[in-house]
Amino acid sequence: MNDEILIDIKNVKKYFPLSKKWFAEKRYVKAVDGISFFIKKGETFGLVGESGCGKSTTGRLINGLIKVDSGEVNFKGTNLANVSEKSWKQYRKPMQMVFQDPYASLSPRMKVKDILLEPLLIHYPKMPRNEKKMLVTELLEKCGISEFHLDKYPHEFSGGQRQRIGIARSLILRPELIIADEPVSALDVSIQSQILNLMKDLQEEFGLTYLFISHDLSVVEHISDRVGVMYLGSLVEIATKQQIFEDPKHPYTQALLSSIPQPDPKKKRESVILSGEIPSASNPPSGCKFHTRCPVAMDICKEKVPELQQLDIEQNVACHLY
Ligand code: SF4
Repeated sequence: MNDEILIDIKNVKKYFPLSKKWFAEKRYVKAVDGISFFIKKGETFGLVGESGCGKSTTGRLINGLIKVDSGEVNFKGTNLANVSEKSWKQYRKPMQMVFQDPYASLSPRMKVKDILLEPLLIHYPKMPRNEKKMLVTELLEKCGISEFHLDKYPHEFSGGQRQRIGIARSLILRPELIIADEPVSALDVSIQSQILNLMKDLQEEFGLTYLFISHDLSVVEHISDRVGVMYLGSLVEIATKQQIFEDPKHPYTQALLSSIPQPDPKKKRESVILSGEIPSASNPPSGCKFHTRCPVAMDICKEKVPELQQLDIEQNVACHLY
């Protein structure tokens, strides 16, 4: 990993309109509400939070599946928010996605070899067919799928094997950034670690940068270098993996961590119980959005939005306690 910034997100917002009743005020789900973070080349940035916090929307905003309302998504210095639909094609290759459910993202009517050949046919139409086939075979081998399986269909594989195929497909165009959205959430725990280890090996071999989106902090701990914690469309803490897991500062991060089972009694964390349900992103609480559930909320928390502030060189927290 080096200090070159691959992705630099600045104050990005995405609000989805709710269906409008006649004469009623127009309302929005504030899915992403002004977030800023960067990802260095070669690192894994884990984006974590409860379901509906805006982490998947963030991934889709970065790779252009949905458009930002405002803010900047800089990829190697180019603000993709200003790139026309036509010019987007050149950014599809360096940015690829891995999804939670590989079965839904792999065409059931295509053989594995064709699933991987398809992007090559689109982007490298003049490449000789035997060269394409060699690339496909080699990459599948690296992902743990032998040549013997090339003519099989997705339904003939297990969930873990299908995710290996999904990962191979995401790599066939030799991208720089992989946005992995809950890539192991649908798999058994034993298979999860195999896939995470595969992703780490591939990262090293191909010099990949990962945005790793997950609701599961223990998975994020396994693979990330730095972590961003999201709550109701906002980033509440960004820090290195060590800082997040050994010295979390934000009460929400502390609560998320205390819910992870800790087998080592010496490392047992203080239990922080969150009260109430996660509020609606269409009507978030005033001030600090977390104040309705925060065990240490103060009067100021209901009124003033806490800014993300730097506590030390790597740790940033949005909380009035600091
Ligand atoms: Fe809790 Fe207040 Fe900090 Fe929000 S700003 S996390 S409510 S202490």
